[in-house]
Amino acid sequence: MEAKITLSLFYMGLLSAVIAITLSVITFYGTIQEQIQRDLQASGDMVATVYENGFIQPDDLTKFGTEDLRVTLISADGTVLVDSQAAASEMDDHSQRPEIKDAQSLGFGWAARESQTLGTSDYYYAQELESGEILRVSVAAVTVPMMLGQAYPGLIGILILLFILAVVFAVLLTKRLLRPIKSLPAQLDDPTLASDTTRVYPELAPFVLEIQNQRAMREQLRQEFTANVSHELKTPLTTISGYAEMIETGLAKPEDNKKIAGVIHKEAGRLLQLIGEIIRLSELDASGEEVRQERVELLGLAKECRETLESAASQRGIRLEVTGCTWALWGNRTQLWELIYNLMDNAIRYNRDNGTVTVEVGQGFLSVRDTGIGIPREHQARIFERFYRVDKSHSRATGGTGLGLSIVKHVAEAHKGKISVESTVNVGTEIRVTFTE
Ligand code: ADP
Repeated sequence: MEAKITLSLFYMGLLSAVIAITLSVITFYGTIQEQIQRDLQASGDMVATVYENGFIQPDDLTKFGTEDLRVTLISADGTVLVDSQAAASEMDDHSQRPEIKDAQSLGFGWAARESQTLGTSDYYYAQELESGEILRVSVAAVTVPMMLGQAYPGLIGILILLFILAVVFAVLLTKRLLRPIKSLPAQLDDPTLASDTTRVYPELAPFVLEIQNQRAMREQLRQEFTANVSHELKTPLTTISGYAEMIETGLAKPEDNKKIAGVIHKEAGRLLQLIGEIIRLSELDASGEEVRQERVELLGLAKECRETLESAASQRGIRLEVTGCTWALWGNRTQLWELIYNLMDNAIRYNRDNGTVTVEVGQGFLSVRDTGIGIPREHQARIFERFYRVDKSHSRATGGTGLGLSIVKHVAEAHKGKISVESTVNVGTEIRVTFTE
């Protein structure tokens, strides 16, 4: 962005300078022309006065001519009598030259044109004398290239200077413009930042507020998550510790040891599962958007999950069905396996005995339907939050951690999938993931 702004400012500076120079040249050119014409007229008047007062003979008029100034005397019928730069006898009839015609009708005449006699570009000033003759003076016209040619070295110098100035100003201005923006990240912790117009451009204030709000929300979520994790870890550990203490202090009867070991084993298993899911979530958090890796076919993946969950389902007489057509998307196979597994696992755990779980795969979607306890409407929006459970004891009793659906949501989002829930209490639940690939 910095380079872009610098370049834009530089171009703007250079463009303004070029426009300014062009306008100056045009104005200067106009002034020079006026000046030349005034001088020409003065010379003409002076020569005419000298000649009319009889101080010189017609042939002496050539003496007034110089390398620059050309003097011509023309008779009333247009014949050239004297010319300071060409042989008068060889010159054609001048009665039709515009400046001569004007001089004859108005008393004087102007023209700027190519000289037919000399082939140069000239200014002409002609005036009618009392004798009816016409005295004409002319000088070479100044053209823009001629004028620039003279000013050439100075102009190049000015252009180089302007170029350097444009670069320096562009760099300095950009630095100045961006300084408040660059210093924003270091000040984001200050809650008064957005309202302080000396530190933040007013146009950026909503942006700063949004970032600050997001930060606060993230921080709050992080704190809640830490508190929840600590709490979830504490419960099984308290149980494990309590039972171990009973054995240690001899409070437990030796014949109960096996039972106690069973409880400790189960609680340790829960701990391991919880820690595993926390690790998976943090891995998902870290991987961000970079999940797309391979072509993953969902129907086959659902069938693999069915095999893994088959024995847990059959223990409660629950039938697992996988239907639909094969459909593949670009994604991460392990993550998508987890998504389907968690949805099917929930559909089994929150099902009634002898119920059914149906997984359907279609073009761009996957749905998991069960005939279970359902989710009350008021909870449906929140079940994807970390550690949110409708019925804590049911979740615990079935080996839930409260993290399964947050993993599902995370994986779905990373694969550009949208989740929808349809559920009726005591009838069943359908969770559908629609992929917008
Ligand atoms: P848990 O490990 O507790 O199952 P999840 O994140 O997988 O955690 O689900 C969150 C909550 O959503 C569960 O505790 C449960 O109350 C509810 N839930 C999820 N799936 C279903 C389902 N298929 N039927 C009924 N309730 C469900």
